[in-house]
Amino acid sequence: MQIIADLQLHSKYSRAVSQNMIIPKMYEWNLKKGIGLLATGDWTHPMWIRELKAHLEELGNGLLKLKKEIKEQLIKTSENSVGTLKQVHSDGVRDPLFLLSGEVSCIYSHNGKVRRNHILLFAPSFAVVDKINAELTKRGCNLSSDGRPILGLSSQQICEVVWSVSEEVLVIPAHCWTPWFSLFGSMSGYDSLTECFGEYANRIYTVETGLSSDPAMNWRIKELDQRTIISCSDSHSGPKLMREATIFATPENEFSFASISTALKNYERDKTKPYIGATLEFYPEEGKYHFDGHRNCNVRLPPLETKLKGTICPVCGKPMTIGVLHRVEDLAGRSEADLKLYKKKLGDFPLSAIYSQTFPRRAPYIMMVPLQEIIAEVFEVQSFSKKVQEQYDSLVAVFSGEFNVLFKTETAEIARRSSERIAEGIARVRRGDISINPGYDGVFGTVKIWPDEIDVKQAEDQKEQLSLL
Ligand SMILES: [Zn+2]
Ligand SMILES: [Zn+2]
Repeated sequence: MQIIADLQLHSKYSRAVSQNMIIPKMYEWNLKKGIGLLATGDWTHPMWIRELKAHLEELGNGLLKLKKEIKEQLIKTSENSVGTLKQVHSDGVRDPLFLLSGEVSCIYSHNGKVRRNHILLFAPSFAVVDKINAELTKRGCNLSSDGRPILGLSSQQICEVVWSVSEEVLVIPAHCWTPWFSLFGSMSGYDSLTECFGEYANRIYTVETGLSSDPAMNWRIKELDQRTIISCSDSHSGPKLMREATIFATPENEFSFASISTALKNYERDKTKPYIGATLEFYPEEGKYHFDGHRNCNVRLPPLETKLKGTICPVCGKPMTIGVLHRVEDLAGRSEADLKLYKKKLGDFPLSAIYSQTFPRRAPYIMMVPLQEIIAEVFEVQSFSKKVQEQYDSLVAVFSGEFNVLFKTETAEIARRSSERIAEGIARVRRGDISINPGYDGVFGTVKIWPDEIDVKQAEDQKEQLSLL
């Protein structure tokens, strides 16, 4: 059985997060998206953990489900989404489950440098969460400051604390390439996982790639050869869930915290055990740190340029933010050509995934553009507009979730239920026939499905950029 999991997001208790990131709304979005397992986020926050306990019930296998009375209430009150979708989903799709997750921001100095590392923590029960929170509080950590608290503990101290409570807790470096707050970040990270985690490094089985890198970029890092790679949305609002995700494959009725843990350790993809089937990927160029650049001066440069001309902003003379692609080039032990990437049809999906001939056991990945963005480009409006949401809601109700619309349904079917243009947009995304302006220094990249229709302003921006070089 396949489970689509989104294991990184934040609740309304984290900075810059939608007030709708609460369990009932998240449950609703699970149904719309087709997510089978969603991280709760933020279990270090005292108010959020109280809400989690009020809404979720432990299954006894390390996962949680929405309490019956909450679900009934939800079905009664929201006619459109949960009511309709619940009916659609009752024919076979299981109830979306939850996994207790938190993210901490460790800021400390180590080997003579200030380090800022974001780390994901997954726990198998409320009891374990409560104990870890008590231990962190004992060490002076202020857990109510934010859903993703800043801790003065090192990456290794976090491992010590959580594993002293339970050996089962999963520790995963978050968005491991972002410049300012990650394991390999160019501005305050490390050159190796071993330097960061020391004696605990061999118990870090997995890294999260973040939006600005794709699996192939990570496959170039030799230290990651024996580690699995997951992709998650790091969403701050419902619509952004599943913009990246991980598909787990486990035997029927064996879905539990333990099977997720096994899949994450199973970097060889031994299919007699739970394993990672594939990951769903945002185009890394769309991530906000893909290229190098300086946001204030509108300067965006590919690493090839900055490697030749230096990393000082050509406009203001300040240092530029070194993006993810540049950083991967610096740490890579092999080239992209060495991976021998190729495309092949994935299972019964009407699309291809990307595989490596050199590393055939690596989980393949599928490039995607979220459905709201595709519809928004068709209608030429913003993706959060009402018009987009209505078309989105109707499509996901008909086909039982966004996952099915994007990855499973024949485009002729989609055209029948929406429009030729939307179906063509989805077909182009599946073929990878799109154009992207890469993101840099905190500015998201932009995707165009019909690049010949790139608006005049963007073309002018590009001209301006080129004249700077
Ligand atoms: Zn983070
Ligand atoms: Zn500048």
